[in-house]
Amino acid sequence: MQNSSKVNLQGGKTIGFVPTMGALHRGHMSLVRACREENDVAVVSIFVNPTQFDPSEDLDKYPSDLDGDMTKLEEAGVDTLFMPEEASVYPEGFQTSIEVKGLSEKLCGAFRPGHFDGVATVVAKLLNMVYPTRAYFGAKDYQQSLIIRRLAVDLDMPVEIAVLPTVREEDCLAMSSRNAYLSADERRAAQAIYRALANAADRVKEGKRDAAEINAFMRETLQKEPLITEVQYAGVYDPNTLDDVADIKSEVLLAVAAKLGDTRLIDNMLVKGA
Ligand code: AMP
Repeated sequence: MQNSSKVNLQGGKTIGFVPTMGALHRGHMSLVRACREENDVAVVSIFVNPTQFDPSEDLDKYPSDLDGDMTKLEEAGVDTLFMPEEASVYPEGFQTSIEVKGLSEKLCGAFRPGHFDGVATVVAKLLNMVYPTRAYFGAKDYQQSLIIRRLAVDLDMPVEIAVLPTVREEDCLAMSSRNAYLSADERRAAQAIYRALANAADRVKEGKRDAAEINAFMRETLQKEPLITEVQYAGVYDPNTLDDVADIKSEVLLAVAAKLGDTRLIDNMLVKGA
């Protein structure tokens, strides 16, 4: 539903917005396409947000391809590419942080402390700066999309949050800017992530209800792959609260975070039990 004061501010036009960190791939572009099709004005941002990276993480070597990104966005008919400077997003004296309690500490949050506070804060700021009618996010970052939906409701932001399906490579690895870090062998080994999810999903669809069994199966599938050096989490979760599930009765989230050397990959799948 439209907030009437907002329609006036936008001159009656709908604004679609896709926030990104650049190095755009087909996953990003599926959001851009929907944004272009569903709104009068299409805005994409590229901002590698420092506050969502841990000091030990890969901020400095985060992939970037501005020329390629601009060509893709122009071809997709995007009206505005918004690339704010770090100093304009976080000017001197900046002190505010948004924490979506209950959702931010779980799954990825347990391994990347402060990450989702950084994400929630920058997304809230970008939504306030662009003031879109609709903002588009990918289901690949399921926890992130849940946190953003929550914050938009909690902060009375007059924006519709759209979450679109994960776009995958031919071998079903979820597209990610971080896939570029993988060696050829790691790239092959990464297939185990989708395999763990898809095979677990089949078991759930067949009627298996014991989550502990599915969790063990997922972990085993991942750990069989020697180039997967760490399984941070792998299992069955409540799709609304992200809590562990014991007995699979309704729709569940299957989710994985695993490291191949220094590269951390995540993926997930929603599945309904039989
Ligand atoms: P990022 O540039 O990684 O911050 O991602 C920007 C947006 O693109 C986020 O909403 C992501 O969830 C989304 N995204 C990233 N990878 C994919 C993918 N493979 N499929 C769909 N959406 C994606």
